[in-house]
Amino acid sequence: MEVRVLGCHGAELLQKRSCSFLINQTVLLDAGSISTVLSLPEQQGLRAILLSHVHSDHIKGLPSLLENLVGEKDQHPITIFGIEEVITSLNAHLFNDEIWPDHLKISGPQGPLFQMRTILPNTPFSVEGLEITPILSNHTVPCTGFMIRETDRAFLYSGDTCETEQLWKSAAAEPKLKAAFIEVSFPNAMKEIARQSKHLTPDLLVQEFKKIGKPNLPLYAYHMKPRYLDTLRTELNETGIRHLTILEDDMRIQI
Ligand SMILES: [Zn+2]
Ligand SMILES: [Zn+2]
Repeated sequence: MEVRVLGCHGAELLQKRSCSFLINQTVLLDAGSISTVLSLPEQQGLRAILLSHVHSDHIKGLPSLLENLVGEKDQHPITIFGIEEVITSLNAHLFNDEIWPDHLKISGPQGPLFQMRTILPNTPFSVEGLEITPILSNHTVPCTGFMIRETDRAFLYSGDTCETEQLWKSAAAEPKLKAAFIEVSFPNAMKEIARQSKHLTPDLLVQEFKKIGKPNLPLYAYHMKPRYLDTLRTELNETGIRHLTILEDDMRIQI
């Protein structure tokens, strides 16, 4: 499995981009950055988008993507997967003919450009040769991480989260697990803000990662708030986690 990092930050600042990860060229994991990174043919080749939750840094690429597909002859639909609260919120607050057009109304005669599909926590589904299980995390709005499997390999994507249990239990029990992508947003000194906004600091990341019980598991840190990147890098490098990579935009990870 290849994971191409289109964006790995919890906000934008100059060139630092919001969360989006492209799996095997056709499946997008969160949609914070799409059209500023992918060429038009690459956008047209997308088949599925998995949304962890509806915060702006995870969905803000969707309006431009829709715009870039409208009127394209022979464009196949892209399926957007999210739990019920995510799909309901997208339709009510984004594609509502106010913030952006209703995606169904501008799709044209060939059918909907976006097909919304509701998924259930802890219920696996298949898309593009991947088997995916959504797992609820602990965030300020309903949010899921995902266990993503392909043949004999799997990785965990935490979504936005503060201290939690089920994500780590699933990771501990997954025999094919080869990596975990876990969010870390604020420096240690901002622990209270992290807790209030339900995110992790490097100290909390250490605490949560231990719950998986696999100290040699490759860990990819993402969702750093760009204005605190320097402090976060220093603190993450001092965690002592053995195989820790602080993700950067444009990296490509082989799982
Ligand atoms: Zn976020
Ligand atoms: Zn969030």
